[in-house]
Amino acid sequence: MTRFSFDLKATDGKARTGVIHTQRGDIRTPAFMPVGTAGTVKAMMPESVAATGADILLGNTYHLMLRPTAERVANMGGLHKFMNWDKPILTDSGGFQVMSLADLRKLNEDGVTFRSHVDGSKHYLTPERSMEIQKLLGSDIVMCFDECPALPADEKRVAESMRLSMRWAQRSRDAFGDRPGHALFGIQQGGVTEELRAESAEALQKIGFDGYAVGGLAVGEGQEAMFGVLEYAPDQLPADKPRYLMGVGKPDDIVGAVKRGIDMMDCVLPSRSGRTGQAWTRRGQVNIKNARHQDDPRPLDENCSCPACRNYSRAYLHHVFRAGEMISGMLLTWHNLHYYQEIMQGMRDAIAEQRFDAWEADFHAQRADGDIERL
Ligand SMILES: [Zn+2]
Repeated sequence: MTRFSFDLKATDGKARTGVIHTQRGDIRTPAFMPVGTAGTVKAMMPESVAATGADILLGNTYHLMLRPTAERVANMGGLHKFMNWDKPILTDSGGFQVMSLADLRKLNEDGVTFRSHVDGSKHYLTPERSMEIQKLLGSDIVMCFDECPALPADEKRVAESMRLSMRWAQRSRDAFGDRPGHALFGIQQGGVTEELRAESAEALQKIGFDGYAVGGLAVGEGQEAMFGVLEYAPDQLPADKPRYLMGVGKPDDIVGAVKRGIDMMDCVLPSRSGRTGQAWTRRGQVNIKNARHQDDPRPLDENCSCPACRNYSRAYLHHVFRAGEMISGMLLTWHNLHYYQEIMQGMRDAIAEQRFDAWEADFHAQRADGDIERL
């Protein structure tokens, strides 16, 4: 069995490229993970997600524990088999989504009680239960159970929350045990305070993890504050382990994070945008519902090789969105995920060839041009 490991192949400035080896295949880094919230990347068949170039998906513990339940997924042979995705899966711990989605949350040292946003049923989540659920799902990369205060929050609250998360990290490590082929990642907290981030990084390294996430960002602090933290946070984490920035982001967030030493990211944005008529292209954001597209025979992006751009006009994409046809979300999601993976491939190549700065300048220059002129 392939043991979980990380090969750092090249660095360019702080940007890194490498390969994470798992028992279900390799993950090329920097990696973008599409989000398969409830056992599906919405509007996409799993083979289509793979065709965009994704090496790994993210599954949400909170959603899956409520529906269909982790036990039911386990009885069906685990999440990979259940959703027909045989490449690696990372699951979050459920902690963040309990905080953002569940009703009537009650937090104490032991864990969190809450009511399901689906049917109001009562649930209890602890580090131990989160590890058990992620094991039942069969996740390849398991995340520690943590707590994350919404920003802005005062420093005392952020410090208390971070220290609770570090105690939960130890309990997660103990409960995870020894599972060859599976990885457990610790999550750094500490808000936007460098000293708290350092304290958290040190506590996590004392426990020892297979990878380290920068948590508690992309929660409303804005890009400038996020990049501010990323100036030092990745450096506080071990260089020989993957670094994962959770819940990020827009294309320029992703490029800025990789530039600062991040190896993995996930975000619902490309798939969610695809369902609301928003496309991300090398020339920025395109709103397909805009009337300017209704007679436009040109593709969304003539340089894109995805099915939406290869086979359909802007006029068609506009029409099916306006008509509320399902293929609208399918095509735009495919395009968006394809574009995100193209950014990742572009960065991997540029880092390997020591030309990341030039690649980044070109990325920003094309975006600055804006969308093609209207007809
Ligand atoms: Zn495309």
